[in-house]
Amino acid sequence: MVEVSAGPCGQMALTLRISEIFASLQGESTRVGLPTVFVRLTGCPLRCTWCDTTYAFRDGHSLTVQAVLDEVARHALHHVCVTGGEPLAQAACGALLTALCDAGYSVSLETSGALDISAVDPRVSRIVDLKAPGSGEVSRNHLPNIDQLTPHDEVKIVLASAADYQWAREQIAHWRLTGRCPVLLSPVSGELEPGQLADWIVRDKLAVRFQLQLHKILWHDARGR
Ligand code: SF4
Repeated sequence: MVEVSAGPCGQMALTLRISEIFASLQGESTRVGLPTVFVRLTGCPLRCTWCDTTYAFRDGHSLTVQAVLDEVARHALHHVCVTGGEPLAQAACGALLTALCDAGYSVSLETSGALDISAVDPRVSRIVDLKAPGSGEVSRNHLPNIDQLTPHDEVKIVLASAADYQWAREQIAHWRLTGRCPVLLSPVSGELEPGQLADWIVRDKLAVRFQLQLHKILWHDARGR
């Protein structure tokens, strides 16, 4: 999907397909509640059953890395989250992440976990999904990513059912995930009762972080919030 603009500007002239850039509160992860600029890249090779950003599968507009930085700067916030879609599906995503770090931002990346994260700038906090069976995409988990995780990263598992929760427990134990980085467990809205998931976590004394999507509580499914 990457398009390369000819010219002397190197990495800053690489172009990306952008769905939207907007300022909001971070709705998930250990950064929840922080005012953040979101850079949403277009396109995703997965089709999770409960995906809430299907509008990012297509369309958008082309911007150079420099133009994205200019738009991010306009919002004058310290935290930037690069998300999607699946941002790593665009080859210029790495250049964007590095440019944002070089510009002094605190940068996070939300990724499906289906693509290799090893080349991502180490200054970036990688929020890596581990897709549970209820997503329909469990076979897409790129498991070598697990050995790439550092305490600076996070694993997010979205759960649609009791079966998903049991699967998550097994994965957390098998891969010793909570010893590697923060682990976030989220219920699929409308499919798994949040209080039920909270009860299971407390009952099982899991060393994970329960999370709800703050932006949905505040603004429901409004786009660009
Ligand atoms: S990886 Fe993310 S953007 Fe892609 S289908 Fe799944 S939830 Fe949607």
